[in-house]
Amino acid sequence: MIYLDNAATTKMSKKAIEAEVEVLENFYANASAIHSYGMESENLIKKARSYIGKVINAKASDIYFTKGATESNNIVIASMAADDSSALTSRLEHSSVYDAFNNYHYKKVVFLKNDENGAIDLEDLKAKLSKDIRLISLIYVNNETGSIIDIKAISKIVKAYDPNILIHIDATQALGKISCDVIDLGVDLMSFSAHKFHGPKGLGGLFVSKKALGKIKPILFGGRQEIISSGTQNHPAIVASARALEEVIEEDKYDYIASLNKYLREGISKNINDYKIISPNEAYSPYILSVAFKNIKSEVLVHILEDEQIYVSSGSACSKGTNNRVLEALGVEEEYIDGVIRFSFSADISKKDLDKTIKVLKEGIKMIREVF
Ligand code: PMP
Repeated sequence: MIYLDNAATTKMSKKAIEAEVEVLENFYANASAIHSYGMESENLIKKARSYIGKVINAKASDIYFTKGATESNNIVIASMAADDSSALTSRLEHSSVYDAFNNYHYKKVVFLKNDENGAIDLEDLKAKLSKDIRLISLIYVNNETGSIIDIKAISKIVKAYDPNILIHIDATQALGKISCDVIDLGVDLMSFSAHKFHGPKGLGGLFVSKKALGKIKPILFGGRQEIISSGTQNHPAIVASARALEEVIEEDKYDYIASLNKYLREGISKNINDYKIISPNEAYSPYILSVAFKNIKSEVLVHILEDEQIYVSSGSACSKGTNNRVLEALGVEEEYIDGVIRFSFSADISKKDLDKTIKVLKEGIKMIREVF
């Protein structure tokens, strides 16, 4: 099997599985229990919080666990919604941000201009800042193209205008891959999900700065075990998430992944005609490579690849091909927009796997173009 769909989810690492099983078997008490066995669970959460805090240059007490980036994003957007509150965002957001803005009431949600590489227009940002803006929410690494937003430059402009505006980033495709130093980036809120870095599914988090904390509320009311999120803490998954993050950071496969990305770009350019690389050449995460093949239905290509046990996405797994909002916002032309394939890498992939992928792609595209 050649799994090139790691932006949709990753394989949980063996060490993370072992860490989770160990807790499930031996330390299963509710972390909110006041007896000593429960306190052991609480201590495990503390350690995980402290490690994740260290990774993002935050205090342990600024990390809150949630059920994933979807919940984290919704918490932020729901918390800041009000009749007199406006927000800035982009058309390149994941649906868990875009759809949340559609469902919570703001005075105004203002979309920032972006270019074809996914960069935010900083002059447009300056022009759109206004007194009623309370929140800016942006995707840090785009899940469809891998483009990296210049959060530092944006936060400088926003803070200079009004330091009370909260800056939220969706770092789901960034944590464990590129620097997510919240001080350096100048952000108040940051969402992440563990299953994108070989941790368990259904476990994520939100960094909340001390300044932002009073403004952030849960969307599920109950025990408020995580203050901004309610429900019994999933501490086996919390422990496994921290373990998975530790492993990807220690192993640091960034350069290897970048070499895979380059190899696939070159292989496609040597073997296939009429295609367009949607991922930018600069300011991109090498973990994602989006390519549009002219006059091809990407679903057909996904199934041709699948017949050879090669797994990729057509556009974003979350949009399931039903809308091309992000690709449209990037200005992808009509004859290309249906033919976007997203390849997303992990260190399990070899160059030999990519040779096979290129061969199957080449034959599949030739066949589709002849038949359809
Ligand atoms: N944001 C981004 C950028 C994502 O890629 C994803 C997952 N596709 C999410 C948010 C949502 O994460 P989850 O499904 O783990 O809640």
